[in-house]
Amino acid sequence: MAQDAQAPVMTGDDKPFESMMRRFDIAADILELDPGIYEYLKTPEKQVIISIPIAMDDGSIQVFKGYRVIHSTVRGPSKGGIRVTNIVNLNEVTALAAWMTWKCAVVNIPFGGAKGGIKCDPSRLTETQYEKIIRRYTANLSEIFGPDKDVPAPDVNTGEREMGWLMDTYSMHVRRTETAVVTGKPVIMGGSLGRREATGRGVMIVTLAAMRKLNLDPKQSTVVVQGFGNVGSAAAGLLQAQGCKIIGISDVTGAYYNKKGIDISDAMAFAAKNKRTLAGYTHAEKITNAELLELECDVLIPAALEDQIKPHNAKNINAKIICEGANGPTSALADPILQEKGIMVIPDILANAGGVTVSYFEWVQDRMGFFWTEKEVNERLERIMLESFEAVYNTAMVHKQPLRIGAYVLGIDRVAQVLKLRGIYA
Ligand code: NAD
Repeated sequence: MAQDAQAPVMTGDDKPFESMMRRFDIAADILELDPGIYEYLKTPEKQVIISIPIAMDDGSIQVFKGYRVIHSTVRGPSKGGIRVTNIVNLNEVTALAAWMTWKCAVVNIPFGGAKGGIKCDPSRLTETQYEKIIRRYTANLSEIFGPDKDVPAPDVNTGEREMGWLMDTYSMHVRRTETAVVTGKPVIMGGSLGRREATGRGVMIVTLAAMRKLNLDPKQSTVVVQGFGNVGSAAAGLLQAQGCKIIGISDVTGAYYNKKGIDISDAMAFAAKNKRTLAGYTHAEKITNAELLELECDVLIPAALEDQIKPHNAKNINAKIICEGANGPTSALADPILQEKGIMVIPDILANAGGVTVSYFEWVQDRMGFFWTEKEVNERLERIMLESFEAVYNTAMVHKQPLRIGAYVLGIDRVAQVLKLRGIYA
């Protein structure tokens, strides 16, 4: 079917779930999904909303709101991070949970999809208050979580420390130390070597694979990275090590451009001493984040937030490849504009799947009680990312679609096939 015939009516910007469904609908149409299977796959299995009452340091009580959405357990236990922001909501968490289902299926790991959220601004809390919130959230969801049921992980504003608190709280409830209940833990308590930079490494691997398809030489290529956190800084550093010239980087404090190239280890060392930000970085010219996205380059890596590339700026993007390190950085309405411009977009559910892949390795190692070397982790990650890139690329070619739709078709088909084999229990 021609792309035009499938293109949904474009009217204004979407909420995250609607944005996910626009792509889902195109893929469902290509797969000629049975209406019942369509309904089954779009509907989350479980949406839990909890209250998190906390005694604050001054003795007052505050009640926070927490979410856990299990989108699918068709292919295995559900997997997905916990996001803590003061704007997180059920629509966002549900979309992110569904994205996890398709992402795990695209890289063919035996997990379904989930996501969690806690509505609060952690920068306004003391460490003690934050720890209480994470522990009470875990306690209230202790019947949902479990190594064979639902396995959380870090996301925005949660990291190794919070995963450690979660593992301890869950373990206290089940009366045994259960490391495999959560991934993204500190290495010393059952985390995996290579997890910290896994998402950036995956971004680097699929970017190089895309360059090979377009006959671009990494040593002659320029790269721009939006976001200098876990994903962006690792991807920038690893691509630089492959010979790419990183001409632009950015974070919440602004963007930094140097046409001769930015030394990423120097920028990382600067950020490490500067409250993890690039504010005041002088080895590059300061520009705005909006200007950064429109710089002429071979590869643009949005690795910060969702909805950065929208119809108004998509038409000005000057890259040959966009590799989506972030989740949902391109709005569904911008997809056709990028496609028209001939930009190869490596979609988030493939591009940033290195993180969940090494989370899967962490879960496997915890369950075996036997840990791999960093070399083993990286080699296995590379194999999975390259196989997944080829599978997405081939699916897209067969259906004459962009890579994003190729990834959705591949992921949704894998879940639908298992669902049909399992059947509907009644
Ligand atoms: P992080 O918090 O470590 O870093 C985020 C970066 O984005 C920071 O440098 C921050 O300053 C910057 N930023 C924030 N607002 C910005 C703005 N308006 N303009 C430019 N930069 C801005 O987060 P992360 O773990 O690197 O995650 C980044 C994205 O990647 C998120 O969408 C996340 O969901 C996604 N992701 C992360 C992982 C992972 O393993 N960490 C895995 C898959 C997907």
